[in-house]
Amino acid sequence: MQRSTKIVATLGPASNDAATLERLIAAGVNIVRLNFSHGSAQDHIDRAAVVRTAAAKRGVPVAVMVDLQGPKIRVGKFEKNKVTLNNGERFVLDANCEVGNQERVGLDYKELPNDVGPGNMLLLDDGRIVLEVEAVCGSEITTRVRVGGVLSNNKGINRQGGGLTAPALTAKDMEDIKVAAQIDADYVAVSFPKSGADMYMARTLLKAAGGKGLLLAKIERAEAITNLVEVIEASDGIMVARGDLAVEVGDAAVPALQKRMIRLARDRNKLTITATQMMESMITSPVPTRAEVSDVANAVLDGTDAVMLSAETAAGKYPVETVESMARVCLEAEKSADYSLDRDFLQREFTRVDQSIAMATLFTANHLKVKAIASLTQTGSTALWMSRLNCGVPIYALTPDRSAYSRMALFRDVFPSLLAYKATHSDELVAEAELELLRQGLVQPGDLVVVTVGDIVGQVGHTNTMKIIKVGERRA
Ligand code: PGA
Ligand code: MN
Repeated sequence: MQRSTKIVATLGPASNDAATLERLIAAGVNIVRLNFSHGSAQDHIDRAAVVRTAAAKRGVPVAVMVDLQGPKIRVGKFEKNKVTLNNGERFVLDANCEVGNQERVGLDYKELPNDVGPGNMLLLDDGRIVLEVEAVCGSEITTRVRVGGVLSNNKGINRQGGGLTAPALTAKDMEDIKVAAQIDADYVAVSFPKSGADMYMARTLLKAAGGKGLLLAKIERAEAITNLVEVIEASDGIMVARGDLAVEVGDAAVPALQKRMIRLARDRNKLTITATQMMESMITSPVPTRAEVSDVANAVLDGTDAVMLSAETAAGKYPVETVESMARVCLEAEKSADYSLDRDFLQREFTRVDQSIAMATLFTANHLKVKAIASLTQTGSTALWMSRLNCGVPIYALTPDRSAYSRMALFRDVFPSLLAYKATHSDELVAEAELELLRQGLVQPGDLVVVTVGDIVGQVGHTNTMKIIKVGERRA
């Protein structure tokens, strides 16, 4: 049984070495996330190389995702690295404060005092600490501690309801976009976008730097929910970034938003990753909780392309076990998924020839009960369209293009192969693809397979043929 839902693993101290990475890939990691909130550019360049070597060694596609830090607003450092805040105490956030203490702490975003006012609730450290703003005066925000706790260096600040005006791309992000292009990242994730315009800006910068990666919007701000369709349309995919999102819109709103985001994205031919705390307890425990198992399975049933691990693989004690557990849960959940094509399928209209072929292929695969779909694709777009609807048939995407090969590692239901075609005519191409699928043991003689192919080899957007073959049958 092949797993259709993909797994993203964040690298960190627990997983940076080549040996662990190889084990993670063997356990089922399809996408590796480089978190640009930590480490130097050179660290990430080196890691990307290690990932690609490990993937090539195993002969599997693994996509590299650069996750930009974004304008996360943080407190400064403390004299003794941390303080304990008690309910009812006064505490000052001061843009001019150098070193923090029990009374006050600095801010990395100096404009914050201009953005908040009395009555605002500030949530620190992913909402573990809550401060109510009482007054703002010059560089100082005076607050009352509503929910106390330990506050340590550089913890994040969000405002309940969102609305902080820091621009989505910082100077560091703009430099990091160049690094992403240099690494040839398959995906670049933009943190805290508020609008479609933020995504267009990132796209322009990535293009200018020569990057070809697809752009993901991390939905983690209240404004991104208000502008959800616009943000989705300006991106190639989204991340349901539940960590910050829960702080901004309230944790209870997130499960329903997750379903809505995944549906809206899929309807628009976009990709989705469901992220944060999916297997959180496995940072220190070798087995997941029942709730975590349910969470991963529900994301699969929601139709997500991928589920993501953060600290579990970056800093946890059981990175490999976590990936194994996640893979097992995905597989089981997929067995129960509903594979009827959407009802509105017949009502859809297409303007592109290749997209029409993709839909005709899905219809045929669904009704003829074929074993597989084979897509001879240059960029992977035909495979993407087909993977946006659940038809329950594996899509084997055979491409000569190395970038398309690793990019498609994120697409649900899509299993990419790298194939350097020798033929030039579509009939010979189909024969080559058939041999490759047989060689890999993905199909058997006698199986029915629907194939998509174009007349002109190596040309983008030229898929114009759907062909149904019986594997092993002579067609000369
Ligand atoms: P982060 O993003 O891990 O970079 O904060 C994901 C999230 O907020 O859920
Ligand atoms: Mn976040």
